[in-house]
Amino acid sequence: MTRSAELFSQAKQYIPGGVNSPVRAFNGVGGTPLFFQRADGARLYDVDDNAYIDYVGSWGPMILGHNHPAIKQAVLDAAENGLSFGAPTEIEVTMAAKVVELVPSIEKVRMVSSGTEATMSAIRLARGYTGRDKLLKFEGCYHGHADSLLVKAGSGALTLGEPTSPGVPEDLAKHTLTATFNDIDNVKQFFAEYGDEIACVIVEPVAGNMNCIPPLPGFLEGLRALCDEHGSVLIFDEVMTGFRVALGCAQAHYGVTPDLTTLGKVIGGGMPVGAFGGKAEIMAHIAPQGAVYQAGTLSGNPVAMAAGLASLTELQQPDLHLALSAKAKMLADGFKAEADKAGIPLAINQVGGMFGFFFTEAAEVSSFAQVTQCDLQRFQQFYHLMLAEGVYLAPSAYEAGFISTAHSEADIQATIAAAGRCFAKL
Ligand code: PLP
Repeated sequence: MTRSAELFSQAKQYIPGGVNSPVRAFNGVGGTPLFFQRADGARLYDVDDNAYIDYVGSWGPMILGHNHPAIKQAVLDAAENGLSFGAPTEIEVTMAAKVVELVPSIEKVRMVSSGTEATMSAIRLARGYTGRDKLLKFEGCYHGHADSLLVKAGSGALTLGEPTSPGVPEDLAKHTLTATFNDIDNVKQFFAEYGDEIACVIVEPVAGNMNCIPPLPGFLEGLRALCDEHGSVLIFDEVMTGFRVALGCAQAHYGVTPDLTTLGKVIGGGMPVGAFGGKAEIMAHIAPQGAVYQAGTLSGNPVAMAAGLASLTELQQPDLHLALSAKAKMLADGFKAEADKAGIPLAINQVGGMFGFFFTEAAEVSSFAQVTQCDLQRFQQFYHLMLAEGVYLAPSAYEAGFISTAHSEADIQATIAAAGRCFAKL
């Protein structure tokens, strides 16, 4: 038995399902999750001393690779001065100014400790600001585990939300409308029916929780126009795309300006950080300036801010995102060429340092329905073959992959060669 397997069986005695976040349990691919002991650059090392080229990057934050020297030093320096004060610190001001400088739509920003807190708070703010209750989200988009967001549509196109998790009251879920991503006509139908009741539309500008689905041309622009027309708040959930797709986030990449933006992952450089921000006029409604309550014992924690600030500062190097995108494209093109050689139908999406691959006959994948029709068994088989080759991909067919600046061209070529051997065995 491997040490990972031993630890997993011990973990199950004390932790529900043996993990502290469900996708880590490998239910999406079968088998036993690996337990890691350290990471450096583009590599993860498990407790059995195997090395893996990592395309998960802690689900996004590790855009500069693991154990980055500038981030590590910033954390060590901050920790020297104390771990938490529960009172204002200078670094919070520097961090807020940095976020305002980098993200086009953000005039004011509030720090929180996770992406879930960011989206939950942004929605409360949108509801408080508009005095409306309904929110519109998209099937296949994930925005953390706040009650209002753990909802998906029933079967009819315009049905009111039904909870996808026990414990979410139907009385709350009924305020969540779930539309079809990349289908602006469907969104128009919701607005025609409920327009003056919709507080906000929340969307991942590149959907990264149903594999990787970029917005079709006009989709984000269409959401902007509908929100303007109906006085609804447009929220871009950039927890995943923020500072990854481009330095100015997906909103800069696509040139569409939301009213509010939620951030997480990269903004913490590997520490627990989230943030939400946007138009000063809307943000003015947050306590203590306004009446919409929001708070956090560890919000703006100095050690977490130090890691995040160091990360954002490093990301400002000229052309860093161009290079990241070129590497992700090299990987995507390489996978496609190897799959073609092996006669395996494969579609690929890639935006900036994010990518996704789909075992499907379809030439392009742009909808949640298409994602659910992909060959899951083939993905699971491929997943374990790649793991045996020393490549750590996200253990689910519904997650985007991530590249870091620490991935060398040699790492990517080695991954493509491994993929070629694995495609040939499918
Ligand atoms: N929003 C998006 C787009 C996410 O991808 C995630 C997490 O994966 C969240 C929100 C929730 O963030 P957290 O897991 O930090 O609560």
